[in-house]
Amino acid sequence: MSAPRIGVLALQGDVREHLGALSAVGADPVTVRNRAELDSVDGLILPGGESTTISYLLDELGLADPLRARLAAGMPAYGACAGMILLASEILDAGSGTRVAVPLGGVDMTVRRNAFGRQVDSFEDYLSVAGFDDPVHAVFIRAPWVERVGADVTVLARAAGHPVAVRQGAVLATSFHPEVTADHRIHALFVAIVTGRA
Ligand code: GLN
Repeated sequence: MSAPRIGVLALQGDVREHLGALSAVGADPVTVRNRAELDSVDGLILPGGESTTISYLLDELGLADPLRARLAAGMPAYGACAGMILLASEILDAGSGTRVAVPLGGVDMTVRRNAFGRQVDSFEDYLSVAGFDDPVHAVFIRAPWVERVGADVTVLARAAGHPVAVRQGAVLATSFHPEVTADHRIHALFVAIVTGRA
């Protein structure tokens, strides 16, 4: 089939890096900032950044409900870090007031924001990820971890005893940022999910 059209939600965060990684693995990446763009994509990446800000902007632009609806209808999605937080069904330490991360659903899981805490605000590791032959270079930046997964969720990797990569159906989420490394296997996995090959 022709290259799948994969959107990167481009409200805030590291959009350009995901566009580059998607191109590198043969997808046709586009930015998504409005309803028409959202409706046009075969799958969507929610990038890392600040989940409270992305939540606020989704709401302001009237995109939160359409995005929730597309996820509920089975649109493939991949969320990294802040994106993982937004794809959860429940968020702990979500913030307050207008600075609150609101879950979109997509994965039946409870995620804790900024879970790794001050001492290890940001760190790198080589993680073994289910289905991959070699460890993945994983960069964590004020990352969340997963505290609960539902029965339909597969845990693909753990760090500090907590799930940091998960999949439920066509939705993938990682606490870490593969887009800032030269290792594009997570993006390749997502493209394979979108095209029905994984
Ligand atoms: N701590 C950020 C948040 O809560 C996530 C950090 C990131 O995406 N690198 O959204």
